[in-house]
Amino acid sequence: MADVLFDYKYVVHGDIIAILLCIVVHFLLKSTYMAKKANLGIFKVANRVLGVAAGASIVYHYMIFLLRPENVIRIYILRGLCYSALIFVYICFCVYTKNLVELEKKYQMYFNILVYGGGIVFALVEFIGPFFQIGTYVDENVVLHQNYYTDVFRMAYLFYSIIVAILLIAFRKRFLPKMYRCIWSVIIVAVGIMVYQAFFLQTAYTVVSFTFPIIMVLFLFHYNSYDVKTGTLDNYAFEEYISENKGKVFSMIFLSLPYVEKEQMQQFSVDFLRRNDNFFESSCCFRLPENRMVLAYERTKNKDEMQVLDKLYGEFKKACGNMEYQIVLMESNGMFLSASEYISYCKYTEVRMPMNALRKCDADSLSDFMKLKFIYLNLKSIHEKGNLEDGRVKVYCQPVLNINTNTFTTAEALMRLELPEIGMVFPDQFIGIAEEFEFIHTLSKIILNKTCQNIKQMEEAGYQIDRVSVNFSVQELHLESFCDDVIEIIKKNDVAYDKIAIELTETKNEKDFLSMKRVIDRLQVLGIKFYLDDFGTGYSNFERLIGLPIDIIKFDRSLTILASKNDESKFMVGSFSEIFKKADYQILFEGVEDEHDETQCINMNAQYLQGYKYSKPIPIENLKTFLEKPAV
Ligand code: C2E
Ligand code: CA
Ligand code: CA
Repeated sequence: MADVLFDYKYVVHGDIIAILLCIVVHFLLKSTYMAKKANLGIFKVANRVLGVAAGASIVYHYMIFLLRPENVIRIYILRGLCYSALIFVYICFCVYTKNLVELEKKYQMYFNILVYGGGIVFALVEFIGPFFQIGTYVDENVVLHQNYYTDVFRMAYLFYSIIVAILLIAFRKRFLPKMYRCIWSVIIVAVGIMVYQAFFLQTAYTVVSFTFPIIMVLFLFHYNSYDVKTGTLDNYAFEEYISENKGKVFSMIFLSLPYVEKEQMQQFSVDFLRRNDNFFESSCCFRLPENRMVLAYERTKNKDEMQVLDKLYGEFKKACGNMEYQIVLMESNGMFLSASEYISYCKYTEVRMPMNALRKCDADSLSDFMKLKFIYLNLKSIHEKGNLEDGRVKVYCQPVLNINTNTFTTAEALMRLELPEIGMVFPDQFIGIAEEFEFIHTLSKIILNKTCQNIKQMEEAGYQIDRVSVNFSVQELHLESFCDDVIEIIKKNDVAYDKIAIELTETKNEKDFLSMKRVIDRLQVLGIKFYLDDFGTGYSNFERLIGLPIDIIKFDRSLTILASKNDESKFMVGSFSEIFKKADYQILFEGVEDEHDETQCINMNAQYLQGYKYSKPIPIENLKTFLEKPAV
């Protein structure tokens, strides 16, 4: 191919656009919150360098048009500057792509030699070449020789495009599908511009073709949720993944390492991703808060998935080493609409499984979870509505036998939920959630209100009842409004204070103990009685117990059972009851199931007895059947 006397065209527009884009990117970097990841500094430099290259390109081309002998050296310098700058930008782009695949050490070395070594050679040839009449040069007659096709810069362009393409092809599985497509499309567009230029012998759009990789790097690496360091996406990306794949069938493997440090987690993610390389065609790994990772992949029906999973589990175990882990496998389902639901389901499963184990979620566990979620949503709505008449909260009660009179004079109120579709829900299924999400006080207020209403009705109908005890959770005692709430509800229902008792459980916590004392001191003077619930299960501490002006101590059913075990245990429980009797407490035994229990409890100073022997918990409306109606 013959050298040509500058017969290809140049217009300034491409370079001006390139400069403007560099300025825009510069201000974007300055005025937005970028994820300050590795290489951000290099990226900023690359952007500026590109701007300078565009400027140099404009001046260089104009100097060529007005070719003068005294300008020859300047032309060489400008051209060298412009094209080595572009090579530098392309090198940055290669490095970014390489960082995505976490190259092994050996490949890393080849990469460095090729990319950096190649860069130095190309830049040197650009600068020194003209003096040896290589590439573009001006001869003795001040004639410019240039060959579009053997240009050093264009060779460099091709060289680096091939390196990126090799990375993309060789390590396809290490790229996230989205990123993979994006990088391909950007190099195709950039190379396409070069081909288009070659076709029309244009040089105006060389620099501007580099703004595409720059914009890509800006978005892909510094403005999204991809973590170059660990090769994972974050929870926002997971959220997006879930909403994008709605209706599709995919699987997820959650891995949780609750006790590792942040750095260890980072190293682990890298390690794990590399091991995970060969397992799934297209999988995405997301790092979630609380040291959790999730690997999501499309289900491949034809492969023996169980075998793959087995192998993967082996790799997991290897990667975890001696770190404590939990692995939860689950499939996409049509019921969850958001990532947070999948994460809650994962957490739900984790608390129900041992450490260092793998659990596959099945249809049963999903339906249990859905039920729990339904309960949670109802509790939330009960709490938010704050309606003391809420029909979903039901008061059950268990009559308590008074030994002295041999009649039922008191009862304990027990909460139930009655929810549409699932029916009756028992305390063990909701009290914990209600406490965790701080809905419990609203529920207690409803129970207290309904209990008062029922006491009022029974009294009006002429039934004799001494009092009903209501359970409160320790955390409620810390509420500023606790005493006022209790007083207000009792007052509103026009019930005497001494018709209500409050059951509290012992605590180990000093703060709880002080709150308990404060509440008892304030409400007891009004006539409200206090029960110490579940004695024998908590943190019994006599010294502190004596410090609380409790009226009645409820011996937990476990003590009744213990007393039946042998003489020693019987003696021990009996001694407790002696001490309390001497200290003027009244004693109630819970969980009296048969005659044997009954005799035993009576022998151990019981004043009150409660248990299935007399009645299971019943709707409070039915309590009347246990109460005396004085003859008129
Ligand atoms: P708890 O206060 O110890 O209530 C006694 C529990 O023992 C009740 O279970 C009752 O049904 C059960 N029980 C009664 N007699 C017998 C018996 O003879 N044998 C056996 N094995 N069990 C018996 P329930 O109603 O399921 O309540 C469980 C727990 O839920 C209660 O234990 C209490 O801690 C909590 N709870 C119930 N209602 C409320 C409430 O309104 N507020 C709060 N904060 N907690 C409540
Ligand atoms: Ca109780
Ligand atoms: Ca109890």
